Amino acid sequence: MTEGPSKTAVFQAIVERKAATQSEIMDITGLSRSIVSSKLGQLCEDGFLTENGYRDSSGGRKPTLFSPNPEAGFFIGIDVKAPLLRVALLDLRFNIRETREAACDPRAQGEVILDQIVHMTNKLIRSSPEPKRILGASIGLPGLIDYTRSVSVAIERFPAWRDIPIKDVFVNTFGIPVFLENDVALMALGENWHRQDNDGKDFLYVGFRTGIGVATFIDGKLYKGVDGLANMLGHSIVDMRGKPCYCGNRGCLETLASEPAIEERAAALLSPKKKMIARDIYDACRRGDDLARKVIAETGRYLAIGLINLLCLFNPHQIIIGGDIIRAKDVLLEEVHKIIAELVRSPSLRNTSITSAQLGDEAAWIGAAYLAEQRIIGDGYDQGHTLLNRR
Ligand SMILES: [Zn+2]
Repeated sequence: MTEGPSKTAVFQAIVERKAATQSEIMDITGLSRSIVSSKLGQLCEDGFLTENGYRDSSGGRKPTLFSPNPEAGFFIGIDVKAPLLRVALLDLRFNIRETREAACDPRAQGEVILDQIVHMTNKLIRSSPEPKRILGASIGLPGLIDYTRSVSVAIERFPAWRDIPIKDVFVNTFGIPVFLENDVALMALGENWHRQDNDGKDFLYVGFRTGIGVATFIDGKLYKGVDGLANMLGHSIVDMRGKPCYCGNRGCLETLASEPAIEERAAALLSPKKKMIARDIYDACRRGDDLARKVIAETGRYLAIGLINLLCLFNPHQIIIGGDIIRAKDVLLEEVHKIIAELVRSPSLRNTSITSAQLGDEAAWIGAAYLAEQRIIGDGYDQGHTLLNRR
């Protein structure tokens, strides 16, 4: 390995694990002690790494842990949780430093919604302590993406959003690269990095949001399908005579299990003047409120039907349910496990671990920063040489 790649490999090994010792980096990268030691020295000197405590050891001197210096670079994470637009500033340790959130008019022209995203991003960049150290952005989109041109082709919840050239607009407005990805895939990347228990096995991440998306990891890689649409669990039909869905069909899973469905279910049980948003229902459920528990349990029953379809299709090692609904995870998971025990006959499929994520919606921001870091520093995107070798 030559000078540049070995420095990047050392840095990326640390980013992947949040913190690592010299001998752990040698194990991961296969590089010699002298090379790792020299690269660590340079990366600390250049301000990309800091010494961050010690690894516990059974005897002798405790080995030093190295972590990215959080101030050395920043990322913008954008999460389109239609109709909410959510932007955040994150540092090089993927700590969320500042956030902004606003609803858009889903019927507006795509350009108008994009303007709103650009405006929110601009405010975030202006308020950041080091605007010049913002390395790039990623945006999570619940719709069809043209990855080659970095164009957001369509978002079903935004009917007038068509062929939006996000990359061109970001490069021209802010001079930073932007990476496009499905919103639930970003959540899965964020959760996976946060948990640090990736053993390379297959897992499915189900993002419970305004809709329901799924990110499928096979051999550690995200499976996207022919057009990147292998994620639309929410539009699997569970009741042919059911309620109309905005996609044009009837009885899609998300008409029964999604944040709007939860809000509707609660509204039907509450007095006509009262209205609760999904997050308040989750918190009320956690406090033991009967009505909220009922709403979440019913949602769990329908979600379980969608999960059974996934079990039959993928026979995965693990399914992780993510999104803000994890605030009500006890009631949700109890119901999900109950229905699966009732309906799934195969003992092998019943053995799949179905758990809640550790992160809520913030997983999308962390995944966004992670993706941008991987592409910019890890792959040396668009620079010919990587940032780490700038001097
Ligand atoms: Zn639908």
